[in-house]
Amino acid sequence: MTDRDECRMPTCSEPARDRTGYAGRFCSDSCEVRYEHLQADARDAAMDESEDRY
Ligand SMILES: [Zn+2]
Repeated sequence: MTDRDECRMPTCSEPARDRTGYAGRFCSDSCEVRYEHLQADARDAAMDESEDRY
């Protein structure tokens, strides 16, 4: 596996900058923000699904 140096954003294959402060290894601030939004969306989707079951 050599993807440890790639940005964690799934749609981004830029090399992540191994800088202090980038705990999640993103290539940029914008990717970090977008990734967080992605996680939030996934959480919302999961909640929607469980709500449908009730
Ligand atoms: Zn990126």
